[in-house]
Amino acid sequence: MNLLPALHTSRLTRAGHWMQRHYVIIRSVQWIVLFAYAILILIPPFMSLPGDTAHIWSNLTVFAQFVLWGIWWPFVLLSMVILGRVWCGVLCPEGTLSEFASNYGLGGSIPRWIRWRGWPFIAFVLTTIYGQMISVYQYPKAALLVLGGSTIAAVIIGLLYGRRKRVWCRYLCPVNGVFALLARFAPLHYRVDGYAWRFSYMQNQHDRRAIPVNCAPLVPLRSMKGASACHMCGRCSGYRDAISLQWRSPAQEVVELGEQGASRWDTVLILYGMLGIANGAFHWSVSPLFILIKQFLATWLIDHRILWPLETNASWFIFTHYPEQNDVFSWLDGSLVISYIVTTGFFYGTTLLGCIACGNFILGRWSTLRLHHFTQALIPIAGISVFLGLSATTISLLRGEHLLLLVSWVQNLGLALLVMANIASLYLAIKIVMKHMRRIGSSVLRSAGALLCFIAALSVADSAWWLIFYVWV
Ligand code: SF4
Repeated sequence: MNLLPALHTSRLTRAGHWMQRHYVIIRSVQWIVLFAYAILILIPPFMSLPGDTAHIWSNLTVFAQFVLWGIWWPFVLLSMVILGRVWCGVLCPEGTLSEFASNYGLGGSIPRWIRWRGWPFIAFVLTTIYGQMISVYQYPKAALLVLGGSTIAAVIIGLLYGRRKRVWCRYLCPVNGVFALLARFAPLHYRVDGYAWRFSYMQNQHDRRAIPVNCAPLVPLRSMKGASACHMCGRCSGYRDAISLQWRSPAQEVVELGEQGASRWDTVLILYGMLGIANGAFHWSVSPLFILIKQFLATWLIDHRILWPLETNASWFIFTHYPEQNDVFSWLDGSLVISYIVTTGFFYGTTLLGCIACGNFILGRWSTLRLHHFTQALIPIAGISVFLGLSATTISLLRGEHLLLLVSWVQNLGLALLVMANIASLYLAIKIVMKHMRRIGSSVLRSAGALLCFIAALSVADSAWWLIFYVWV
């Protein structure tokens, strides 16, 4: 089938059309990635745990740990703001399997519970907390359980719902919400030209009929406005001579479309998920407060002869349990990890919400939609926070290999990205405030007050990294 337009000629547009024409190559790449992914998560759990002398280049378990958590996760996140969701559409093994399964499944219609907009937040929180309970970054069995479990769930959903679709990716994937937020900053997107689309109908009457495109993540092509839901698979490139890969300003989607697509679940995910629960997950293992509380509670329990919480008999899939590595959680440890993460999430989320709500209140008459829009200016700092937390695994693995030059390079990259994210967030906040200022006729003083509140929110978000980098070192 040839959907290619004669009109679009930019190099980027041609790249999009190339993807559309060579979908067979993309499909082959997907299966290669799937094969590599299967090796990395399936083989290490059946090998003995690596000793102190194991290296990235000499032990498959350490190699898999480095590739999965040290490179794959942090850089997939980073790729979202550079290329949009190309990872999802071109490389993700879960998406590939889910779509493949839906070719042969029941093809059922998607039930309402799956379409619930709270899933991205709930799935992100549950996966983050469970990952910490079983030390997913450290142990291959835990990685298999979390990643493999998610892949099996993706296949089951594919078998049950949709035909040649990615229902799992669109609604239930634990990182779908985070990816959708970050992709709003991608300088690339598939743009729909409304005029060309309408014109194509007249053409079709005389000329040829447009062959329908299968958009696996169920994006409504004609009304597609941003890059948030699009998986950048390229299948629709050139469709009706109206869809093409284009450059755009990274601020465009958030500033111009942010209010239309604003949802309270996005706000909750940014504030309580990415800047809350995720911070708690990155903090607890280095927090002196965590140790103080643990010691206090352990002493209290012993004094009161309540000893069962100190027992270490939980299975590895409930709490970390690797006696041979001297790494075992008692029931007290595990419960404290969960409580610490949840409390930190609540503390950061509520403090940030307070700052943003204050800014919204100062700017003019209260508007919940504006609150959600204003919160979206925090996406860059939220994305970089998650990236920094994940790159801690990269740093500790590189340090274990005595690659100190690389360690300092990754650390400096992280700090540089944190500074850039602060600048990007502030820039977005200024643009958003100016937009609302013009619309509601707010004064310059009120706008400056709203921006001061936003700067306070940025300081709160940065404080999480100030503690890790400078206070708790
Ligand atoms: S809109 Fe759908 S078909 Fe088009 S590139 Fe995005 S995911 Fe692919």
